[in-house]
Amino acid sequence: MLQSVTQTLEIPVRNECDILVVGAGPAGMGAALTAARMGARVTLVEYGGKLGGMWTLGLLSPFFDNWNKPGLNQELREKLAERHAWGGLWDMSFDPSQMALLLNQMALDAKLDVLLYTTACEPYMQDNTIKGVFVQNKSGKQLILAKVVIDCTGDGDIAARAGCPFEVGRPSDGAFQPMTMMFKIGGLREEYPRDATIDWYALLQYRQRESQQKLIEDVPFDKPCIIKLPGPGGQALVQWTHIRFLKGTDGEEFTRASQQAMLQVEKAMLYFREVRDLLGEVYLLELPAVIGVRESRRIKGEYQITDDDVLKGFHPVDGICDVHFGVDIHEPSKAEQTNLRNAGFDIPFRSLVPLGVENLLTAGRCISGSFVAHASYRVTGDCLMMGEAAGAKACDAISRNITVRQLSRELAAQ
Ligand SMILES: Cc1cc2nc3c(=O)[nH]c(=O)nc-3n(C[C@H](O)[C@H](O)[C@H](O)COP(=O)(O)OP(=O)(O)OC[C@H]3O[C@@H](n4cnc5c(N)ncnc54)[C@H](O)[C@@H]3O)c2cc1C
Repeated sequence: MLQSVTQTLEIPVRNECDILVVGAGPAGMGAALTAARMGARVTLVEYGGKLGGMWTLGLLSPFFDNWNKPGLNQELREKLAERHAWGGLWDMSFDPSQMALLLNQMALDAKLDVLLYTTACEPYMQDNTIKGVFVQNKSGKQLILAKVVIDCTGDGDIAARAGCPFEVGRPSDGAFQPMTMMFKIGGLREEYPRDATIDWYALLQYRQRESQQKLIEDVPFDKPCIIKLPGPGGQALVQWTHIRFLKGTDGEEFTRASQQAMLQVEKAMLYFREVRDLLGEVYLLELPAVIGVRESRRIKGEYQITDDDVLKGFHPVDGICDVHFGVDIHEPSKAEQTNLRNAGFDIPFRSLVPLGVENLLTAGRCISGSFVAHASYRVTGDCLMMGEAAGAKACDAISRNITVRQLSRELAAQ
């Protein structure tokens, strides 16, 4: 039987900054760029080899809930268009490689201190206050000290390890939305509709003369989606693979999920070849650096966004992000998707302020909300805007020498 070991190591301090942002996905980019542009000393830690999170490492499009937003949402839309990298499906898709190049340029322009290939391991705590984060990379283990830490890991890794309470999955049984490995194809016919989706599942079933059960066993999701990208060459992203009941926050299960998803990619490509008279001579162009995790920890905060807030509307005084995207639940235990209407709501800043730990914020899909609410605000336009607010409010709190919780309570009491 394996036993645990205790080891004492001297850990060097890499740097001390105002704001440490952990995770460079849409939320992390929003937080880090905003705070750096406001003059804060910002360090951004990311375990992937490029910036962008699911936008780039995960190969996703479209950029949902972007169209209605100013700020960085608008800036990215315009700068991607200048690079001829914006358009495609629903006129809101983008080239993920161009997104990575653009984010790199923006980070350099903002003089962000970026640390790639670096895992944030655990928080450095003094009582219930986070003082920094231990990170690990090719240099070994180091400590980064900060006045405020913003957890943008998607999974709330740092908040959870700091002891913040959290929830996972739906209330009835804790089951959560499945993971998906996106993939990129080339060779799609030019005439393939840009603004329409076709019921590929029904088509494949008809062409294959396969039973529904066989298709579902091979690739268990009944709405394969081909997301045409801007630019020539018939490139598109495919959302089809689905991995259920495995957790993105468990190293073993995360690995197994990736392995199983790759088997599904192979099967999906075989099915696409069956309908190449419609699609064109499609071929597998690229696999993502990571499998996409739709849902994991939702860190409990000063306010938890409820189902009713989404379904009936909610406009709090401390609103920081208007969410219009409908509730989109990839069912945890069925090969189906459930969509509900979002009445339009604003995320209160309070939902970014975790319970129990000081000087810590969350932004992105790990903020405080219900299973249903998360299924709406998790899209990238909203995560980016939450990040912008987290970065700006962290700067405000630091300049006024108050905690982010004090600032949040002030804003909510206005
Ligand atoms: C398959 C799939 C398809 C989707 N499709 C769409 C879509 O079409 N449009 C849309 O708008 N949204 C879509 N979403 C939702 C959206 O992608 C995510 O909810 C969103 O990216 C969350 O943003 P985030 O910044 O919170 O997290 P992420 O984008 O996941 O970024 C988190 C970042 O933190 C890094 N990280 C994590 N842990 C650590 C650590 N311990 N140390 C250092 N770095 C760490 C990760 O490498 C990553 O770069 C999809 C999600 C999935 C899974």
